[in-house]
Formats: sequence, structure tokens, C-alpha cells
Amino acid sequence: MEPFLPKRVFFEPKALDYSLGRRLYDFFRQKDIEVRMTASHNRVTGIPGKTASEGYREAKETLVVGVRKNGSFATCKPSAHYQLPLATSCPGMCEYCYLATTLGKKPYLRVYVNIEEILDQAQAYINERAPEITVFEGSATSDPIPTEYLTGALKRTIEFFGRQELGRFRFVTKYSQVESLLDAQHNGHTRFRFSLNAATIIDRYEHRTASMAERVEAAAKVARAGYPLGFIVAPIFVYPGWEEDYQAMFSALDAQLPLDARKGVTFEFISHRFTTRAKANVLDIFPHTTLPLNEETRKFKFGQFGYGKYVYTAEVMQAIKTFMQRQVAAYFPAAKTEYFV
Ligand code: SF4
Repeated sequence: MEPFLPKRVFFEPKALDYSLGRRLYDFFRQKDIEVRMTASHNRVTGIPGKTASEGYREAKETLVVGVRKNGSFATCKPSAHYQLPLATSCPGMCEYCYLATTLGKKPYLRVYVNIEEILDQAQAYINERAPEITVFEGSATSDPIPTEYLTGALKRTIEFFGRQELGRFRFVTKYSQVESLLDAQHNGHTRFRFSLNAATIIDRYEHRTASMAERVEAAAKVARAGYPLGFIVAPIFVYPGWEEDYQAMFSALDAQLPLDARKGVTFEFISHRFTTRAKANVLDIFPHTTLPLNEETRKFKFGQFGYGKYVYTAEVMQAIKTFMQRQVAAYFPAAKTEYFV
């Protein structure tokens, strides 16, 4: 994949007080990319787009370079204690993006130049919870890989946690540009996870992300670099031929992943589901979507926050679960399945 290059970049004036901010400013000016200033990274105006779909596309080509204010980190239960805000959004256009509802109609990308201050805040949380281990999630607001070549924030974070006895880090990506992270001193304290799906699903719905083959190849490199490794298989769809397609995904992993790196690998399985609000968003941004969003073929399940979601029926869920369990047992007998939903 080509590295992400935005069409336009906004800078908060304060970002230029940091060496990373100045370096990025010079970098984009030299590339002849449109550079503008913005008073706040939270309220950026001037991104073009007449329709929701156009606005979305343009926002995904807009980068904002800002300073993250010293505030508290959001909690991230149940998988981690806190979110670690390294960046916001990503250049991908997955039709079922898990951030779509929170980022709204103009999900422009944001990177923060005050990484050291963000890590200082993480340190304070770790100290506060000592002697307990504190876990941070690095992809609650973004996919942190596409902007990594610009900021180096992820590598610094991985090395920060490499030095922490009581801090652990995890993140997930749909991208494959992992080279700069392979020699990071991670000390086994970062779980590097890849979001995977059947190749047909990735090709059809995960626009502008790495292909399945690229992600599997990147995962093998990460495994060889000694990182704890994990896979989120999501969202899982049932359609004619789904078993063959997901079987091919496991075969690709089997062909690439060194045997000695499979112990301790984690799997998370999430079947496809949608809320009424998410469906409306998808149809706004991708009016010609072929995503299966027919409520009549699903079961309605009340969620814990008062809104419900449409999930596969119990019978279909059981079929997916049995299938995935068999794959894990066959190819990754020493892996841990964290959950299936
Ligand atoms: S890669 Fe992740 S964050 Fe980016 S659009 Fe796809 S689902 Fe959303």
C-alpha cells in the first residue's frame, strides 16, 4: 500500500511550538500539500463536500495536526483500563467502521504532537493503580498505523510500555506498514493485533485498507519480531460460501505464521450486528452499499445502554461459533479465544 498522504492539512498554531509540529509543517509544505491553520483541532471547518458521502470522503483526506489538551483519558472497559489517544480516525473507508457513529459525518484525521505529555499522563495512571497492572488501548479512537510514518507516536508508545513494569499496551490495525515497529524495544508488553476478515469481505467493504494477504504477511513479521500477537475476526458474515472464505483466511495464516509464534496468540470473534442509527449512517455515506442490513433476517437484542441491535439468530450464531472454534483448534491449538459475540 502507498503511505497515506492527505489532500489538505490543518495546523493548530500551538502545534508549531513542538519540534514534531514544525517538522510536519515543513514536510507538507515541501510536498506542495495545501496547509491551513485552525484555531482548534476539535472544530475544523472548511472541509468541502455537498453530500454526506462527499463530506465523508474529503474528511478522510484531511489531516489535522494538534496538541492534545491535558485531560483525563476515557475508560475502555472491559478490554483495557484506559484509552490511549494517539490519533483520531484513519484514512480507511470501511462501510461498517466501528468509529463511524462516534466520529460523525466528517471524520477527519487528527494526530497530536505532544506525545511525551500524553505518555506522562499514562505514567500518572500507571502510578495511581500500582501495584496493579494498568492496560491501555491504542485504537479506541483511530487506526494508529497509517499516520505512524509521519509521527512515530506508536513506536514511542510501544517503547514507553517496554520500560513499564506495570503498564501494558494493545492496539489493533487493518494496515500492514509495520516495518518501523519491528525493532521497537517492546519487551513483550504490547499486544499487536490485526483485524482480519475473509478476503471477499475486505475487498468489498474495507476500502483503502490493506488486503487480507498484506495483513497476514505483516502479522508474520510482527510474530517474528516477538510481539504478543492477536487477531480480531470481525465482523463475521454468513453468506453463500462463507465457510470456504473464512477457511481460506485461516489457511493463509497457517501458511505464513511461524509455528513457534502461535502459542499465546489471542482471537476475538465478532459477528456482524447493526443498530438503527448505524444503519442510517451507512446508508447516508454509502448509499449503494451491499451490506446485509435487513432487520427481518436478524434477531433484535436489547443493549445495555438502552438501544438495541440486530444480530444473527441463535442458530446462525452457533454455526459461526462452532466453525471458528474448529479453525482455532486445527491451526492454533495453543491460542486463546478471548470472546465470541
Ligand atoms: S480501518 Fe478501522 S478505523 Fe479505519 S475506517 Fe476501517 S474500521 Fe474504521
